[in-house]
Amino acid sequence: MRKFIVAGNWKMNTTVPEGVELAKAVAKAAAEVPANVELVVAPPFTHLYAVAEALRGSKIALSAQNCADKAKGAYTGEVSVDMLKSVGCEYTILGHSERRQYYGETDAKLVEKVKLALEAGLKVILCVGENLDEREAGKHFDVVKAQTENVLFNFSADDMSRIVIAYEPVWAIGTGKTATAAQAEEIHRCIRSVIEARFGKAVADDLTILYGGSCKPSNAKELFQEPDIDGGLIGGAALKAEDFIGIALSF
Ligand code: PEP
Repeated sequence: MRKFIVAGNWKMNTTVPEGVELAKAVAKAAAEVPANVELVVAPPFTHLYAVAEALRGSKIALSAQNCADKAKGAYTGEVSVDMLKSVGCEYTILGHSERRQYYGETDAKLVEKVKLALEAGLKVILCVGENLDEREAGKHFDVVKAQTENVLFNFSADDMSRIVIAYEPVWAIGTGKTATAAQAEEIHRCIRSVIEARFGKAVADDLTILYGGSCKPSNAKELFQEPDIDGGLIGGAALKAEDFIGIALSF
């Protein structure tokens, strides 16, 4: 069964007390959200333990925003999948465009990270998406197809049941410029067909594909009405409980 998900990527925002307050506000408002919509919050690493406590008793899942590409050892400043699991993470986001752009995250590195995350029992939200130059050059389908294949074709159909894909056109992230529902849908359909060609129809039908890029309560409904858009990965609007929940109420 395909799952609908609204996931909030807090990025490098909020202090720990602010994050706890936000998590509590989201948990309180979440009661209104239909049971078939899963809510996920992805605070910074420093917040995970305290936010897990704040979410206790709610059905909101906790996610990290990244993980190390090594299991353990002398890798100063890194955070391992086992550490994430031990604080109660159910998911980790991987391959966000900001990590690809500012921290040199490659598809090869992402294969290692996805492997480790799945082995540790985490689910993965893998981000793909073209930048503005690529879209203007008409290469958006090729870029997204390559990012999807380069990482996910190293995994099995079984692994795919614990992977969510987020299509996030880089030109729409934090810019206020949302992809139109039609622009997003055609890429989501393309991603689903890439997955179907490799893993079969049942896996493709069950795959959750999120849209991310300036999604807000005012445009979520139109996006979520599309048959291949199964929810959102939300940046800016996830920092206000009211907006985040407003998006989740748009199904
Ligand atoms: C994101 O970075 O994942 C994102 C979708 O950001 P925003 O909603 O702010 O565009």
